[in-house]
Amino acid sequence: MTVHFVLCDSCLVKYQSLRFDASARLTLSYEPFNCILWLDEHPTGPPLSSFDGDEYTEENYHDLQEHQDCRSSILRLSAARAGLWFQGKVPDRLTVLWPEAQEKIPEWPGFRRMNLRDYDSVELRECLDELGLQL
Ligand SMILES: [Zn+2]
Repeated sequence: MTVHFVLCDSCLVKYQSLRFDASARLTLSYEPFNCILWLDEHPTGPPLSSFDGDEYTEENYHDLQEHQDCRSSILRLSAARAGLWFQGKVPDRLTVLWPEAQEKIPEWPGFRRMNLRDYDSVELRECLDELGLQL
């Protein structure tokens, strides 16, 4: 099955408007990402629901239902980048989605962070430890 990068118009606008912030805070997300991320990489509100400073809350669940496909695309985008980080390549099932995402949201701040070694720090290692991941 080929997996495509699909965002509704509203989510597309949100993601296209995100800009890289070199001072953005690094954090980790168990749910829904199960990965590390920087706070400039995702808007608040759908498709992910709100980030409260520590975690994405799922309280607006009904809003999220309308954006299930968007949400899946964003989680897969995160997984594709994690593949680059930890396995050195985008997972096979996401090799179509990855360039589609780069075309649709070229300014996504996450595309500026393709190599975790550039960000090596105590903070990064602590986040990775908590998630059971290693550089
Ligand atoms: Zn959406």
